[in-house]
Amino acid sequence: MNRAIPSAGENLAAPAPSFDIDRIRSQFPILDQLVHGFPLVYFDNAATTQKPLSVIEAIDHYYRHDNANVHRGVHSLSERATEAYEAARIAVKEFINADSTREIIFVRGTTEAINLVAQSYARPKLGKGDEILISQMEHHSNIVPWQLVCEQTGASLKVIPIDSKGQLCLDQVESLISARTRLLAITHVSNALGTINPVAQLVELAHARSIPVLLDGAQATAHLSVDVQALDVDFYAFSAHKMYGPTGVGVLYGKQQLLEAMPPYQGGGDMISMVKFDKTLYNDLPYKFEAGTPNIAGVIGFAAALRHLDEIGLDTIRQYENKLLSYGLTRAVAFPGLRLIGTAAHKVGILSFVLDDVHPHDVGTILDRQGIAVRTGHHCSMPIMDHFKVPATVRASFAIYNTVDEVDRLFEALDRVRKVFS
Ligand code: PMP
Repeated sequence: MNRAIPSAGENLAAPAPSFDIDRIRSQFPILDQLVHGFPLVYFDNAATTQKPLSVIEAIDHYYRHDNANVHRGVHSLSERATEAYEAARIAVKEFINADSTREIIFVRGTTEAINLVAQSYARPKLGKGDEILISQMEHHSNIVPWQLVCEQTGASLKVIPIDSKGQLCLDQVESLISARTRLLAITHVSNALGTINPVAQLVELAHARSIPVLLDGAQATAHLSVDVQALDVDFYAFSAHKMYGPTGVGVLYGKQQLLEAMPPYQGGGDMISMVKFDKTLYNDLPYKFEAGTPNIAGVIGFAAALRHLDEIGLDTIRQYENKLLSYGLTRAVAFPGLRLIGTAAHKVGILSFVLDDVHPHDVGTILDRQGIAVRTGHHCSMPIMDHFKVPATVRASFAIYNTVDEVDRLFEALDRVRKVFS
């Protein structure tokens, strides 16, 4: 059954697609439960998304039928495991339109991908006086790895500020770039605000000054179609678990010539081609960066998640989530005492807000008692909280299985919060 999506505010570029929300929801078994006696509304998707049956079944199938270590055995199970693991690499390459599977490194997640670039790419190049340029809207994962490498090398961090809507102050970027800027590391989409950054423009600006760019894609890849070649980005980091895939798996995309020139990040099995006590030869890409037994089941589950995203289509997802966002914004603006944190013109489906005189943690607790899961806190983005002068926000983040009815439930529940505290 196609459920009609109500019209929802002004910034809708395209009409609602025909979208079988009931069919989509039926693929996520976890959604079918009561929490404190209410049907679960899961609005914590920016922290991690729920997993469809196809992902759960792919992992189950692997452990029931194919479990073996990859790249090592000549026996059938190991061959099957290796084939499925490498097929996932091809799926990722196609999903982000990389040039080669050699550019797809499986890691634990965005955090590990950024640390890898900080230690293997940046550390050998950086010296006293060099600079890394980031922004004020970064997740701690795209701040702390750079602080560590700055401490190790004597380099320093420079920060692009954000404005009152939670958008980058683009007019300040050029003046923050200097002859010593060695890398621009910036988020594609902000997890705390939902802001979509003009990354193509930033890459162009940085490249015009021969500065390579890393994009933190953790909040982008489940909502926007990403083409790393069209963007011409040098490194792109993302996590499977925010894309309906398993936890503990992510990807570092890097341009081949950059990855070739980088030393390994970790030493161990699989990343070598020959080991002697006086000399070790490293394996070719991508294996040079995949030391030890990887998360094989997770990678195979990730491939199923990519198929799921492909089947629905990122354009359809974007249109549908835009509807939810627009509707949510309309309700939020009309809600007494609610202050939206992050009102950028280009956003993904994230509503971050505070309520007058109620601490976000209290809001979160009362919402939970009504079956609604939101995130409250600093969202690992303390500099953003400082900028908006709030200790924390309530964040409702939308995914493909959320509905307009659920957005209504959120605002009914917020009404109850207001009554409790008035
Ligand atoms: N960057 C951003 C923008 C994020 O939202 C997150 C996850 N909240 C991360 C990085 C870190 O991702 P992970 O924990 O999967 O490594």
